[in-house]
Amino acid sequence: MSRFIDHQYDVIVVGAGGAGLRATLGMSAQGLKTACITKVFPTRSHTVAAQGGISAALNNMGDGDDWRYHFYDTVKGSDWLGDQDAIAYMCRHAKEAVLELEHFGVPFSRTDEGKIYQRSFGGHTLEEGKSPAKRACAAADRTGHAILHTLYQQCLKHQSEFFIEYFVLDLLMQDDRCVGVIAWCLEDGTLHRFQAHIVVLATGGYGRIYFSCTSAHICTGDGNAMVLRAGLPLQNMEFVQFHPTGIYGSGCLITEGARGEGGYLANAKGERFMQNYAPHAKDLASRDVTSRAIATEIMQGRGVGPHQDHVYLHLEHIDPAVIKERLPGISETARIFAGIDVTKNPIPVLPTAHYNMGGIPTNIHGEVLKDNTGTIVPGLMAIGEAACISVHGANRLGTNSLLDLIVFGRSAALKAKDLIQPGAPHSALNKDQGEASFIRIERLRCAKGTITTGQLRLLMQKVMQHHCAVFRNHDLLEQGIQQLTLLSQTLSDIQVNDRSLIWNTDLLEALELENLMLQAQATIRSAQFRTESRGAHARDDYPKRDDQRWLHHTLYWHTSDKKPRFEKRPVRFATLNDAVDTLAPKQRVY
Ligand SMILES: Cc1cc2nc3c(=O)[nH]c(=O)nc-3n(C[C@H](O)[C@H](O)[C@H](O)COP(=O)(O)OP(=O)(O)OC[C@H]3O[C@@H](n4cnc5c(N)ncnc54)[C@H](O)[C@@H]3O)c2cc1C
Repeated sequence: MSRFIDHQYDVIVVGAGGAGLRATLGMSAQGLKTACITKVFPTRSHTVAAQGGISAALNNMGDGDDWRYHFYDTVKGSDWLGDQDAIAYMCRHAKEAVLELEHFGVPFSRTDEGKIYQRSFGGHTLEEGKSPAKRACAAADRTGHAILHTLYQQCLKHQSEFFIEYFVLDLLMQDDRCVGVIAWCLEDGTLHRFQAHIVVLATGGYGRIYFSCTSAHICTGDGNAMVLRAGLPLQNMEFVQFHPTGIYGSGCLITEGARGEGGYLANAKGERFMQNYAPHAKDLASRDVTSRAIATEIMQGRGVGPHQDHVYLHLEHIDPAVIKERLPGISETARIFAGIDVTKNPIPVLPTAHYNMGGIPTNIHGEVLKDNTGTIVPGLMAIGEAACISVHGANRLGTNSLLDLIVFGRSAALKAKDLIQPGAPHSALNKDQGEASFIRIERLRCAKGTITTGQLRLLMQKVMQHHCAVFRNHDLLEQGIQQLTLLSQTLSDIQVNDRSLIWNTDLLEALELENLMLQAQATIRSAQFRTESRGAHARDDYPKRDDQRWLHHTLYWHTSDKKPRFEKRPVRFATLNDAVDTLAPKQRVY
């Protein structure tokens, strides 16, 4: 009897965050037999935590906003590393994507006229930087929660199938194409092979390589690691966004929307220091600028608290009624995680790992690319934070991620309909398909080493936090690489105490740690490779942007020997011409 339970679908989507659910919905609604596999219940995906909003130049606040200003801000925010065809596609489709969400039932906050409410956000401007724009469409400060629940309801309405609490271990690759995935059912311990004409990876980011991060414990970038194990590259892994305002101690996020509603940062002297770093945008400067400003204030001895290692975010001057209506979520978070009443006291904050700009390289249809000339991997797509399309380049603007999920989740579904016929037959799987994953999970299940997953993970997170955070330089990175190499070798000495396959969280976390370790190496090695400062990647030893040598994406391959393989992929600058229209089908899923 086979050790695997086999399934066949037209499409398998791995991940039920905003990206995975939008793709699942689109695929199902177009008649493709689609299953969505997720390691947690869909509405527990990290998208549920998104607070501030989703961007679209709707001009609901009458400020004259236009998708071209959004495009300009995103290109500039990306520090010119974003692919401009993809950015144009996203900004152009933002309006219909958000209105579609409204029609699906997302309960957005409203203006007095009943339109979708929009707030200011860092880096959102009118007329190429002249004045702040109100572009972030918000459902109070729980926008991701509202979107995720609505999308899940829509998927159920369209009879999408879900495999919930199944952990996908690896891609099934055959003759250089992806033909499915192998997954472990956490509830009963069975192993499943899912065959599909298209696999869509929507597995989210890998914030958990850091000690202090805003992402959920499940953000271990499993899809990225599957891609590396399949011998495919990841792109721009050196670019990790640090959010300026994580709560000191816990890392929980305080949305930029708080500064959008009038909040400001201050140092130990009570100075509003952002005016020294960004005289124009001040507290609403982009995240990389604000994070570096806070780090500099702390390094120069102007931090607050007994160790002078954080700063204050003030909201006490804002009308409590506004806070109650627009920022209820962060008020609760600050109360629980900092013991602060935001209407009376400032919130202690510091820069915290927040978003991964890097990930699986794709084109605007979500098709995965395997080299610097853009060759497509048949049968494989990636969307959401797991992907690097790249719309965010070296630095993501706030509220552009939720938009990226929705726009490219939809474009992947439209492309899938072009590529495959519903119900087309599957070719036979090679006999040994899935065996490598079986051996891997068995090896870990029986592991009798001396170090626990929790201990090893903490060591890895501390190395990343110390050696590859807001400011970087050659020596710091080199020491980090050496320490990480030792830690990844220590994986073979791991200790797993639960030998069962049923609800074995010990084993699950060990598998996730293997995935994290691959990405920590990818991140720190790519950071060492790029000898310039751009966007979120700030090198003390190379403080300037170097367009001559580095106006390229970085492609990283994991190799078994000590030296990783790198290639540079050109940035796409072609845009704002008719080609964009032919790339961007106007038809809706409905
Ligand atoms: C606290 C916080 C606030 C944010 N606020 C905003 C905001 O206001 N606006 C904005 O634009 N962006 C915001 N972001 C960023 C944005 O929320 C994320 O980038 C986005 O939600 C990621 O969505 P996703 O669909 O790619 O992945 P996720 O929502 O992370 O979902 C990943 C999915 O993959 C599944 N999965 C992963 N691995 C496996 C596996 N091995 N097997 C099976 N399933 C697997 C998980 O179960 C989950 O369903 C915020 C992020 C954080 C952390």
